[in-house]
Amino acid sequence: MAMKAPKGTKDVLPKDSYKWQYIEEKWNKICSEYGFKEMRTPTFESTELFNRGVGDTTDIVQKEMYTFEDMGHRSITLKPEGTSPAVRAFIESNQYAEVQPTKYFYDTSCFRYEKPQAGRLREFHQFGIENFGTSSMLADAEVIALANDFLNRMNVPDVELHISSVGCRCCRPVYREKLQEYLRPRYDELCDTCKTRFDKNPMRILDCKSEICWDIAKGAPMMLDYLCDDCRAALEELKCYLDAMGIEYKVDPSIVRGLDYYTKTAFEFITNKIGAQGTVCGGGRYDHLIEEVGGPDMPGVGFGLGKERLLMLMESCDHDFGGEELPEIFVAWIGDENLAYSLGLLNELRKSGIRAVIDTKARNLKGQLKYANKLGAKYSVVIGEDEVRTGELTLKNMIEGTQIKIDRNNLISEIRK
Ligand code: ATP
Ligand code: MG
Repeated sequence: MAMKAPKGTKDVLPKDSYKWQYIEEKWNKICSEYGFKEMRTPTFESTELFNRGVGDTTDIVQKEMYTFEDMGHRSITLKPEGTSPAVRAFIESNQYAEVQPTKYFYDTSCFRYEKPQAGRLREFHQFGIENFGTSSMLADAEVIALANDFLNRMNVPDVELHISSVGCRCCRPVYREKLQEYLRPRYDELCDTCKTRFDKNPMRILDCKSEICWDIAKGAPMMLDYLCDDCRAALEELKCYLDAMGIEYKVDPSIVRGLDYYTKTAFEFITNKIGAQGTVCGGGRYDHLIEEVGGPDMPGVGFGLGKERLLMLMESCDHDFGGEELPEIFVAWIGDENLAYSLGLLNELRKSGIRAVIDTKARNLKGQLKYANKLGAKYSVVIGEDEVRTGELTLKNMIEGTQIKIDRNNLISEIRK
């Protein structure tokens, strides 16, 4: 039986990979414009990092991680998100001792054992940024501005920015108690998962997808109504900065982020164009994460943006990705004695940056040209005895069907025209 890719994973084949390259190029560019620098962290980390970083009451840690013991009896986990590894590397490289803030960006695979569906995979890919070392809302505003600017550049309409505050160590416990008070009389009606959330992480109940919990959650008290003065002022400050930058948003008290580490700012970019999994980008502030992972007491803010969901959205509005890159010239040859010359020409073309191909299946001339057509090559040349002797080539424009005689020395400039 033929092998299949594991459930929840996807191959990216050439008919789509140029679209990935397109968004990756634009992503690298915008990050550099905003002063973020790339970091790459390993695909796997010690499980302990995510237990501490993501939080062991979260769905991710409790049921979605790819965890295994390696041959040295270490517990290893494929990274389910990018922030905790970024924090680990920040601490390990002593970057916290340098001038702050530290601004990182990344592009990474993430692994979560979830139920695969449209926009939800077990291996998916995220663009992300992190800004460590500043508690000013200017950092939150800049992080949101980058996501907003990027989505605008990707030309995706109908994406809404929702912002909220999830409070801090001062006001969240007060709210938590209020929420538990509200939920307690209806405890028996909650789904089994939410029953376990009641003590450990009651805010997650507000994000439950089961109908009954959702119904109960509708009337629950909201974090926004219980913010302390500091958190309330922070949210107002953020709104001022977003207004100043002309960024539209909605304050949405229902935002509950899936990771435990968030404090104050939480935000999502949401669309209804790609089905149920409509959150393209999610992020927020995490003022205690660096400390929890073993670093100094330092704040941070960032986001993760799902590449698959972004591409689904761009495809749904027929984004022009510029198409696959086709060969510029196909070098065909007649007679084995002319092959060496052809290979030399091919080499020269490639060295000057021209996309040049040859038939590595070594078919006869008719077969080679048929293949050139199939590849969509713009030009072709046929190298025979005359061409080798005189250096005069016939350059055929395969699209227009026209041809010109040209000296080999002028070939590159002609193609570049
Ligand atoms: P969701 O509510 O959709 O499960 P999340 O809150 O778990 O999202 P984050 O951890 O904030 O997501 O990850 C950031 C982004 O990564 C999401 O906004 C989404 O675009 C993408 N993402 C998350 N999980 C998946 C997945 N299983 N498959 C594809 N993309 C995903
Ligand atoms: Mg999730």
